[in-house]
Amino acid sequence: MNRRLFIGSLGITSCALGMGSRAPSSPKYIFLMIGDGMGVAQREIAERYVRMKYPKRAGGLVMNQLPVHGVMTTHEITGGITDSAASGTALSCGIKTVNGAVCMGEDLKTACRPVAFDAQDVGMKVGIVTSVPVDHATPACFYAQVPKRGMYYEIDEQITPTGFDYFAGETLLGRKKAKGKASPTELIEQGGYQLVQDRAGFDALKPGDSKVVVEHDLGYAIDGKQEISLADLTQKGIELLDGDQGFFMMVEGGKIDWSGHANDLPTNIHETLAFDEAVAVAKEFCERHPDDSLLIVTADHETGGLMIEQDPAGLVTTIDAQEFRGQKYMNEVSNWKKSGSVTAEVAYNRLVNDFGLTDLSTEEAAHIQASVSQTISADAEDARAPEIQKMYGKKNAAVMSCQHALAGKAGAQWTSYKHTLVPVSVTAAGRYADRFAGDCDNTDIGKRLKELIQS
Ligand SMILES: [Zn+2]
Repeated sequence: MNRRLFIGSLGITSCALGMGSRAPSSPKYIFLMIGDGMGVAQREIAERYVRMKYPKRAGGLVMNQLPVHGVMTTHEITGGITDSAASGTALSCGIKTVNGAVCMGEDLKTACRPVAFDAQDVGMKVGIVTSVPVDHATPACFYAQVPKRGMYYEIDEQITPTGFDYFAGETLLGRKKAKGKASPTELIEQGGYQLVQDRAGFDALKPGDSKVVVEHDLGYAIDGKQEISLADLTQKGIELLDGDQGFFMMVEGGKIDWSGHANDLPTNIHETLAFDEAVAVAKEFCERHPDDSLLIVTADHETGGLMIEQDPAGLVTTIDAQEFRGQKYMNEVSNWKKSGSVTAEVAYNRLVNDFGLTDLSTEEAAHIQASVSQTISADAEDARAPEIQKMYGKKNAAVMSCQHALAGKAGAQWTSYKHTLVPVSVTAAGRYADRFAGDCDNTDIGKRLKELIQS
């Protein structure tokens, strides 16, 4: 694959047009905000949680209050369920491709051009912001071209040649693949960028600073106060990028997807809320620049097949009972299993207590008891009952059965551990927001953004 040549040609194109200027008719400030795995149901249950938890607050999620609404299909090139790479490519380049491809066509050779470069061509500054590593599929689709999303190191090599002003996310995944090559730190420094990895360095960033890579683990919103949040990264992006020629900023809430795969509803809701706080920061900025800004909030696909079946009065109590992400409990269960120090009965009592499942039906209790006892006591996976194996695969059935019971108590149900084909919402505000109203496909977002920027 001729990656270097392609990047070289991108560089030439950028240089040739880079001193161009934005047409007065195009928006000066563009936010494209992507909740990874954030389907309609994820938005809706987070909305209900907020309305019930804060009854005096006007409205629910900020993203749901934007004036323009649309519905977007997300399938990959053959019509099947997409991954974040194929959908990210559609949102960024406006083309359909195969799963796993980051800004590459279905032949895995023909690269497409991320919209962020179109923005750079007309002089806009560019920011790539995420709550997961910036070399993960969704953010990578806004600056890199590789045939396989797992080529993290090759994605990292493409960060500084972009000349973009601000990258912010978690520890780069390419760090693990840098053996015998320049480390991502060296790549960043050799590329003339400033690498910021702690809060003090982050706080010290000020308007005028450019060519910055922030690499800091955000953790999960549910686990307690984050040292740096997605909203903080977004706010800092505004401070660094604001200027005469405006900016394009992509902001991704990446762990909505991860908690959807984990069927962990409270974590999912908290990640959606953390993403919404970033949307609030962008919206507040847009309101100060009403004639010049465009804010789009959407998703790359739905994850987990979340259904809302009823409207429980106790939604907030149910969700708040779980104080940490489900993985913490899974780690505990593995430790109990390894040490052999906790009986299945004690494990069951601890788990149902920690998940607030004190009013289970006899059937639910029996199911969780069986899941816990088989997880704790099984020497091998195949020692588990076929029903438990079928339902949970290799997942930790003890914790997963509690998470599913909690979701049920919250009036919801996870129907998949994977992505689904269910269309997602698009909401938008600001200049040309009406172009994102109604039904669309994910490729339309990339196409329309390119049209607006190039107009
Ligand atoms: Zn996913």
